[in-house]
Amino acid sequence: MKALVLESYNNLTYKDVENPIINDNEVLVKVKAVGICGSDVHGMDGSTGRRVPPIIMGHEASGIIHEVGNNITAWKPGDRVTFDSTIYNEDDWFTKKGMYNLSDNRMVLGVSCNEFKRGGAFAEYVVIPQHILYKIPENVSFSQAAMTEPAAVALHALNISDLDKNATILVVGSGMVGMFVIQLLKIKGVKTIIAVDTETDRLEKAKQSGADHIFKPDDKELPNLINQITGNRGVDLVFEVVGLSETINKSISLLRKGGALTIIGNLSKTIELPLQAVVTRQLKIQGSCTINGEYEEVLEYISNGKLNVERILSAEAPLEEGASWFDRLYKKEKGLMKVILKP
Ligand SMILES: [Zn+2]
Repeated sequence: MKALVLESYNNLTYKDVENPIINDNEVLVKVKAVGICGSDVHGMDGSTGRRVPPIIMGHEASGIIHEVGNNITAWKPGDRVTFDSTIYNEDDWFTKKGMYNLSDNRMVLGVSCNEFKRGGAFAEYVVIPQHILYKIPENVSFSQAAMTEPAAVALHALNISDLDKNATILVVGSGMVGMFVIQLLKIKGVKTIIAVDTETDRLEKAKQSGADHIFKPDDKELPNLINQITGNRGVDLVFEVVGLSETINKSISLLRKGGALTIIGNLSKTIELPLQAVVTRQLKIQGSCTINGEYEEVLEYISNGKLNVERILSAEAPLEEGASWFDRLYKKEKGLMKVILKP
């Protein structure tokens, strides 16, 4: 089959590779659409240690089942599917407690690190264990379905946070996941959403996604507005979708006493934390890790038109042009958000 292989750091090559072989509990999916994730772009230069070459990356995908393993009865060739990015063990303490996203020895599709290597979807075919498959509703396209994964990451962060419709909620970072956080907050009926980002075009998209107020982080009007809306208390909840000292400190400074910070972004390995503010203002800080069963709800929102995933879609291109699209994303071309490749 043809695949886009990261052969060495910063070297993506479209080439022939051997067809993957499935075991009894797996299916072979003919890939129809696969999104380029920020983690693929950051990972390909070796900086994250999560894309050790050679590896076929790609974990945001959809396709058609081509072949099923011997133990599989629930799925058949021809089924339209998308799949979780986490491959987890069903017989695991965390999985059995309902937290498969935290299970031991889990793998991520298209990731290669010290602990594991698992081939991903920048290829004609990808091997998927049956327990992470989801059926695509009939009116949802393959490209839309390929964006289920990042939207589910956003929904998971909402699910583990104390959402109150009447709360004032700040979303720091209006990239793709931030945008989905905003849309999903709107779907959940949250009345006041403030978006912060450094880029004007992203803020415009945040507004289209449902943000009531948009600000650049250094805008003096931001604290003024928050004070005005909240009676000088500060916001109730922040979703942080960047993961830098600066943005997390900004988030903490705008929270009310007893407020909560849910962190999705993790660009920095470590950050400077204002410990005394966290303790004396009794803040709750929580990390949000990937997805824990949010796929079906997201697919339903895409199917019934509540969630607009196309808003973040910048381009669709053949897989063989993948290397040049990675390059454009790596160089942070303005306005370029989600790029979907089609084998
Ligand atoms: Zn991703």
